Amino acid sequence: MAGAGVVVPVDSNKQTAFAVLQPIQRSKPEKWSDFFHSPTLRPVKYRLSIMLKVFCAPARYTQGPNATDQLGLEIRNLGLEGPAILVAGRSAIRLLEDVWARTFAEAQMEYQVFPFAGECTAAEVRRGAEAAVAGKARVVIGAGGGKVLDAARAIAADLSLPVVNCPTIASSDAPCSALSVIYNEDGSVEQYRIYRRNPDLVLVDTAVIARSPARLLVAGMGDALATWFEAKVCVEGGVKNMRGGASTRSALALAELCYRTLLADGVAALESVRAQTPSDALERLVEANTLLSGLGFESSGLAAAHAIHNGLTTAHGTHTYMHGEKVAFGVLTQLMLESQPSAVVDEVLAFSRSVGLPTTFAQIGIPNPDEDLLHSIARRATIAGETIHNEPMPVSPAMVVAAMRAADAAG
Ligand SMILES: [Zn+2]
Repeated sequence: MAGAGVVVPVDSNKQTAFAVLQPIQRSKPEKWSDFFHSPTLRPVKYRLSIMLKVFCAPARYTQGPNATDQLGLEIRNLGLEGPAILVAGRSAIRLLEDVWARTFAEAQMEYQVFPFAGECTAAEVRRGAEAAVAGKARVVIGAGGGKVLDAARAIAADLSLPVVNCPTIASSDAPCSALSVIYNEDGSVEQYRIYRRNPDLVLVDTAVIARSPARLLVAGMGDALATWFEAKVCVEGGVKNMRGGASTRSALALAELCYRTLLADGVAALESVRAQTPSDALERLVEANTLLSGLGFESSGLAAAHAIHNGLTTAHGTHTYMHGEKVAFGVLTQLMLESQPSAVVDEVLAFSRSVGLPTTFAQIGIPNPDEDLLHSIARRATIAGETIHNEPMPVSPAMVVAAMRAADAAG
C-alpha cells in the first residue's frame, strides 16, 4: 500500500485479484464514490458520516390550573428582570389582566400591556418592537393564541431579549418552538423565521385552557396526532430534524408518548373543556398538545402530514379550517401513502372520529374536489424542499392525489 494508492480486492472472471486505485486529483469530484476514494477528501467523508444529535426545548415549562398566578415569580426565578412588555390578545387581556397586576406586583416587576392587533405581520412585529424599546423592556411575554405568541417571539428575537410564552389555547404545538410564521396583510404566509433559541419560559394555565372553545383543543390534537408518525419516518430515514441534527431517543420517546396520551385522554379532555372544568385528563392532554408534540416535532422532524397540510392551504375551501384540522387529514393521507396496515389506519380513524377531527374532504371544506384541485394541492405538497421528501420512497404528486382519495374513502 505504497504511496497514496488504495489496494482493494476485486472479483474479475470469478478469480480473486487485487487492484490499486490511484487517488483522484480532481478538486471537484463527479461522483460520491470519488469522495471516498480520495485521501485528500477524507475529512469531508468523516464530517458527512457523523451527524450530531440535537435536542432543543424551552428553558422551562410550567403548567397547571391558575399557573398565571406564578408568572411574575417564575420569570424572576429564571433570573430575568423587568420591565416586561406583555404582547396580548383581546381575550387574554379580558381573562387575565387582574391576575397580571397581582403577579407582577408580587414579583416587583414593572410591565406594560401591548394589545395585539390580530395578525402576526412584519408591521405588527415592528410596532411591538418599537413599544418594547420605548418602554425599555428587558423581557417579552406573549399571552394568547398562536399568532400572538409568534409575534412575541419575533419581537424578542429582533431585540435579542428573552421571551416567555403563555398560550391561552392548546390548538397547536408551536408555543415551545424556536420559530414564527409571519403573515402578509391578506392572511397568506410571508415567511418562517427560525430563531437561535427556544423560549426561556412556556407557562400554560390550564384553568384558562379549560374555558377555551372545544374546537381549538381538538385542532391541537390534530397537530399532535402527526408528531409520532412524522417523527418515526424522520428517525428511520436518518434525516435531519428541525434544528439540522439527528434525532435523539428522548425526542422519539416523547413523540410516542404524545400519541399514546391522545388515545388515552383525548375524549375525556374534550369533555372537561366542554364542561369548562380542569381535570387530570385535560392536564395530560394539554401537555401532549403543547410540550410532547412541540419537542417531538422540533427535535425529530416533519414528514408527509405537514406537507399535505401546506398543500391543502392552497385550496380556498380549507381556509376556515384550523392548522391541526388540516394536519389530521394529512396524517391519514400519510398513512395511505406509506401503505400502513389497516390496524394502524383504523386506530387513527377511530381516534379522529372520537374527538371530531376531520377524516374526509368534506370535513375540511372541499367536498367532491375535482382532479385539478387535488393536483394543485399535491403539487404544493411535493415542491422541492418539502418535508414530504423525508418519506422513505420518492413521492410524486400523482401518489399524493391517490393517497388523499384513499384517505377520504377510508374516512
Ligand atoms: Zn403543526
